[in-house]
Amino acid sequence: MHNPLWFDPSHCLIGGRWQAPIAGQTLPLVNPSDGSEICQIARGSAADMDGAITAAREALDGEWGAMTALQRGRILTRIGQLVLERVEDLAALEAMDVGKPLTQARADALALARYCEFYGGAADKVMGETIPYLDGYTVYTLREPHGVTGHIVPWNYPMQIIGRSVGAALAMGNATVLKPAEEACLTALAFAHLAQEAGLPAGALNVVPGLGAEAGAALASHEYVDHISFTGSVRTGALVQQAAGANVVPVTLELGGKSPQLVFDDADLDAALPFLVNAGIQNAGQTCSASSRILVQRGVYEEVKSRMAEAYSGLTVGPAADDLRLGPLISTRQKSIVEGYLSKGADLAIAAQGCLVDNCPADGAYVCPTLFADVPPDHSLAREEIFGPVQVLILFDTEAEALEIANATEFGLVASVWTREGARQMRLARKLRAGQVFLNNYGAGGGVELPFGGVGKSGHGREKGFEALYGFSQLKTVAAHHG
Ligand code: NAD
Repeated sequence: MHNPLWFDPSHCLIGGRWQAPIAGQTLPLVNPSDGSEICQIARGSAADMDGAITAAREALDGEWGAMTALQRGRILTRIGQLVLERVEDLAALEAMDVGKPLTQARADALALARYCEFYGGAADKVMGETIPYLDGYTVYTLREPHGVTGHIVPWNYPMQIIGRSVGAALAMGNATVLKPAEEACLTALAFAHLAQEAGLPAGALNVVPGLGAEAGAALASHEYVDHISFTGSVRTGALVQQAAGANVVPVTLELGGKSPQLVFDDADLDAALPFLVNAGIQNAGQTCSASSRILVQRGVYEEVKSRMAEAYSGLTVGPAADDLRLGPLISTRQKSIVEGYLSKGADLAIAAQGCLVDNCPADGAYVCPTLFADVPPDHSLAREEIFGPVQVLILFDTEAEALEIANATEFGLVASVWTREGARQMRLARKLRAGQVFLNNYGAGGGVELPFGGVGKSGHGREKGFEALYGFSQLKTVAAHHG
């Protein structure tokens, strides 16, 4: 396979200059499809992070900070155009780095382009308001950037998460510092190259790869960062919030979930089936909004079970370049976490499993997608985020019981309801504890335009859509007394 790298991956981008990390240290980046080393990446330190944050501050006082919303929007739109021109290159990088099947990697690159287009177009459409007040006053509000925003990104959807968080932050005029995941950072670096090519001023986007406990922690705790956007695990999210809290800095946390789909007896099963399965196995289940719990009413339970089992039996797993339904997991570490859950499910019935193709390299991080049936709602597989291709089927009788089970985890990111009954759709849309509810669909095709975020341990704050622009800005109230 040809090497899709077109830049030096061992550098950080700081103040418009690509440079080796100050301490000269690097980390190996591993291809999860075969365990081989792709390249060495920068192991950024607190000193590199300090340089990046200083550069971002200078950008706010320089060319970037002086730009109008229209100018910022045009640059973002140009970045989107360059992303579109390089979709295949970006997809090849992401497939190699994350182990994603090429079709998924391509969809992620297109989503990155779409975020740049959306936020490029929206940049000059964020407005304040005038507020009726006392006689002799005119009061209005201004939406202003926070200043320097930190973006800590995980390995599962690097391009999409960069698009939604860095894209929205730049649209609002923040200067950004991006810390990609140590397991997958090539498309973050590629994105920064394209942003430079599109004319983004120096310091508006800085990228410091490295370990979470080093570069990540340095970003989260830095006193000159004004806002942090974090996507990843609950444990790390809590640490980031704690570190930012010491500086009284706001954070947006997107921490995953255990998202249910509720299938009622009157559901259109032909429409539901592809969503029930795909929402669990997309990206090998390593999706914050994965639907890992399928709650099914008694009247259609056996049919859903056998149709999902049939779909699972046809699932194949192999190297990213083979472009099958599933690739490997991100790492052998993630593989052992998922295998740990499969062992915890030893007391459960397996309805069906997919299979690995014959040519799976022995050092790849492969697991078989697994569908468990008749799972008690209080079982750990029905409550904890697994982050692998594992789904559980749970039986229910009444709407009230389905609601209680659906709301009984500590998470609340996404939920979906499959029923033809309009009143039930409306009732459940209100009562389900989730940041997004889908009625007779799941995921709505990605939904760049749709505000996204969780409740409970799924996090707080909203990204995507127009709402993100409010999150990446703060409101100033101006009251003029003119008599
Ligand atoms: P993680 O939360 O530790 O890592 C996510 C990002 O945070 C990475 O960029 C990492 O370098 C950074 N980070 C790590 N420690 C940090 C610290 N102390 N301060 C600041 N930044 C830090 O996730 P992980 O270890 O890669 O994965 C573990 C589990 O997290 C997975 O099994 C999965 O359940 C969950 N996860 C969720 C998402 C999501 O989209 N919600 C994404 C990835 C992982």
